[in-house]
Amino acid sequence: MEIEILGCYGNISGEYRATSFLINDTILLDAGTVTEVLDDRRIKQIKDTVITHTHIDHIKGLFPLADELVMMGERGIKLFGVERVIEIITKNLFNNLIWPDFTVIPSKTEAMINLESIELEKEFGIKGVTLRPILMTHTVYTTGFVVKEGGRGFMFTADTGPTKRFWEVVKEEKGIEFIIADVSFPNRMEHLARISGHMTLSILMEHIEKYGLKGIKIYLTHIKPFFLKEILADLEGLDYREIELLRQGSKLII
Ligand SMILES: [Zn+2]
Ligand SMILES: [Zn+2]
Repeated sequence: MEIEILGCYGNISGEYRATSFLINDTILLDAGTVTEVLDDRRIKQIKDTVITHTHIDHIKGLFPLADELVMMGERGIKLFGVERVIEIITKNLFNNLIWPDFTVIPSKTEAMINLESIELEKEFGIKGVTLRPILMTHTVYTTGFVVKEGGRGFMFTADTGPTKRFWEVVKEEKGIEFIIADVSFPNRMEHLARISGHMTLSILMEHIEKYGLKGIKIYLTHIKPFFLKEILADLEGLDYREIELLRQGSKLII
């Protein structure tokens, strides 16, 4: 499995782009950044999108993506999310108020975007890749994911504060090569991280220790660009070499 990091920051600022991972060239896991970095040939290859939650930095790429695909004469991209996420998208996004309703454009039977509800904790498959949504702890209904192909894969926390189930699943799952974990704020802003449903490095380490996960490889994501230097300093002060920053534009191969 190849995971291309189109964007991995907790805000959009200068060169720093919002969360979006392209799996095997065809599946988008979150859609914060799409048409800014992919040309039309690559946009055309996207057939499925999986959304963790409805905050704008995770979905804003859907709007130009749908528009661009329609222009190219494409149809029928699938958008997967748990029921609550699909409900929010239906009501607030593709509602003809802030963007045309691409779930009925160009026609109901041949819509550009087909919404598909998935069930919490239940594995579903997209072209040999399996995904399993896990409920996280954020300010809006959010699911992280176990993503696997051929029995090996990774886990993604999406946006989350301190949480329990995800870390239990990390322990239960087999074949997990790394975790992509939300660390939005520096350690000194732990209070803000907690109330906004995010983590600091120290909160993340609490979970690693509590669940006996020392040694597991972790990539940090959703860093607020404004605090990048400070978070890097937090990381340097940590005696745990298996953690590194997720790099925008990089490809992870499993
Ligand atoms: Zn969020
Ligand atoms: Zn976010």
